[in-house]
Amino acid sequence: MPRIYLSPPHMGNMERELLLEAFDSNWIAPLGPHVDAFEREFCKTIGVSHSVALSSGTAALHLAMILLGVSAGDEVLVSSFTFVSTVNAVTYVGATPVLIDSDDISWNMDPMLLKEELEDCARRGKLPKAVIVVDLYGQCADYDSINAICDHFKVPIVEDAAETLGATYKGRPAGSFGKMGVFSFNGNKIITTSGGGMLVSEDGALIDRARHLATQARDPAPHYQHSEIGFNYRMSNLLAAVGRGQLRALDQRVARRREIFEFYRSALGNIPGIYFIPDAPYGNSNRWLTCITVDPDEFGASREDIRLALEAENIESRPVWKPMHLQPVFSRCRVRGGEVSAEIFEKGLCLPSGTDLKEADLIRIVEIVRGCKLKNYSP
Ligand SMILES: *Cc1c(COP(=O)(O)O)cnc(C)c1O
Repeated sequence: MPRIYLSPPHMGNMERELLLEAFDSNWIAPLGPHVDAFEREFCKTIGVSHSVALSSGTAALHLAMILLGVSAGDEVLVSSFTFVSTVNAVTYVGATPVLIDSDDISWNMDPMLLKEELEDCARRGKLPKAVIVVDLYGQCADYDSINAICDHFKVPIVEDAAETLGATYKGRPAGSFGKMGVFSFNGNKIITTSGGGMLVSEDGALIDRARHLATQARDPAPHYQHSEIGFNYRMSNLLAAVGRGQLRALDQRVARRREIFEFYRSALGNIPGIYFIPDAPYGNSNRWLTCITVDPDEFGASREDIRLALEAENIESRPVWKPMHLQPVFSRCRVRGGEVSAEIFEKGLCLPSGTDLKEADLIRIVEIVRGCKLKNYSP
């Protein structure tokens, strides 16, 4: 049996044609007409005014920190329950991450903990330079609450929507809630350019400056002249062509991910000890990955038993992100809360969620999961 991956790339004919068109035009890299078109079409898709296509989501996060003037000695509040890249970006500019735990409504940053932390920061007379809010596994954080709190303290938000393209919060697209929004087109995301990212904002001056910094901060002159330190962070024209094709399929991809989630939920949702990632009432998740939590006492097997049983059948599943406050590299960071994401990490598993999964694959997967219960059953 060929291996079933967690979330492999899903390419169509459109991507292939656009890529070949870019190739044949000899407009290989960097930049070119597909990059401009990808940015335009991306803006239209998520309803923001300005965007810049970059080499990765991590590059977008790094630039966002620079654009907000975050530097050594500053603090930035960040969701603890995330992929490491979010917090790494804070350290790239020499600032200190402060980690905020999740709530169990959406697994995203708990607005109450954010408020408590900001109040403490204000009392100490040192507010953070920014808050990076992550939209985890395809579901938005609670932006009405989070925006109100951050507005009150006048701290700008960067929305890490790397996992959440195509989702909405109260009808408004993910990625449009902060001062800037960040997306990723890494290979396992809902759409991919093999590697890539996008930084978006309503503020055109910010995005112009991001574009400048991302192209080695080259001044307008016939020779190469530089007045500040820049980066090589732009997306290539070839990859933007792939991105344009992927973007056209986004609605279908979201629909299929949601279908896969519903399949798992109807097949496993009634089994004692198996729970699904909570469905926050305020939004529409893109269901990037279907996540379950497993209570081993109730179910009769642990999430690791399930993971190994799937692996034995050449099926990839993965524990949910290990929270950043539990990571050796960030163990000295201040953390607000921590128990909620720690518990999700103990019990959480991401099931194969690729949009190319066949019904037969899905049936096999749920049978293997159900089988774990029987194998480990002790009355
Ligand atoms: C994937 C991801 C990123 C990083 O994106 P890259 O394109 O891989 O650099 C950042 N944040 C989150 C939450 C992600 O899932």
